[in-house]
Amino acid sequence: MSAKLLEGKPIAEKIKQQIKQDIEGLGRKPVLASILAGDNAGALAYVRSQQKNAEALGIEYCLEKLESNITEAGLVDFVRKLNQDKSVNGIIIQMPLPEQIDYKKISSFIAAEKDIEGMNPQNMGKIVFGSAKILPCTPAAVMELLKETAVDLCGKEVVVVGHSEIVGKPLSLLLLDKLATVSVCHIGTSKAGKLEEHVKKAEVLIVAVGRAGLIKGEWVKDGAIVIDVGINRVADKIVGDVEFEAAASHASWITPVPGGVGPLTVTMLMRNLVEAAKLQK
Ligand code: NDP
Repeated sequence: MSAKLLEGKPIAEKIKQQIKQDIEGLGRKPVLASILAGDNAGALAYVRSQQKNAEALGIEYCLEKLESNITEAGLVDFVRKLNQDKSVNGIIIQMPLPEQIDYKKISSFIAAEKDIEGMNPQNMGKIVFGSAKILPCTPAAVMELLKETAVDLCGKEVVVVGHSEIVGKPLSLLLLDKLATVSVCHIGTSKAGKLEEHVKKAEVLIVAVGRAGLIKGEWVKDGAIVIDVGINRVADKIVGDVEFEAAASHASWITPVPGGVGPLTVTMLMRNLVEAAKLQK
């Protein structure tokens, strides 16, 4: 392997120090309300990790457990109450939601100044204008990883694979803001047989699909920076979307999976909470 390992944890630790200082500046513990409808095991694991992170930073984490048969109208009412509650600084809705609930619809009811996942249409829209104060967590985590490499994105060929609303779309706008030349690949690119061609030209490659081994190591350009957002369970191991070993022999930097984007994503959530508390002040 010739690439340097781009790990999320040390960067997260630095950002946590800043978060702690900001919390001292606030003069009170910020409060995060976390809505969990039902008892999905994956959601519960994510809640525990958030809770641990929050408590270590001096953030009050209020878990709001709701029945899995809650109606959409009932959940909207609950969100509205939290919007009006002055003691609550940020709201997060745990996924997956019960099937009768449409996440997009519910997230649009979270007050923009309390939307610490950055998924409310108002916060998403601000990304287009380059004025967003609260960014979606995973794209923000990727931007922090890129900052660590000290790459100047201006004019760089950046290829984003995956165009989801939570990762690829907002991320490509953040990269455009840095004057990168951004190509966004998706299922249409793969169907047209053009994924390899695009990946091969990437000076910075960011992959967020959720398919182990989708990106072949030999496609990675020499010296490229590779950020693998994907999380896949393969034979009891967690792997990304990029063939790690083969890609690492070409790349200059590469994120491990696990240990790359993941540890930063939850830190970005806490940073957003503090940012929200500052905006509310
Ligand atoms: P989605 O399923 O919402 O999006 C996947 C994207 O990949 C879609 O744009 C889809 O296109 C595209 N895609 C699917 N198949 C192909 C293909 N063969 N070639 C090219 N593009 C393809 O997933 P998310 O964005 O939510 O997450 C992506 C991955 O990142 C997952 O593994 C997830 O677990 C992980 N993740 C990791 C986080 C972290 O903190 N590390 C946080 C968030 C996500 P289309 O919609 O057109 O089919």
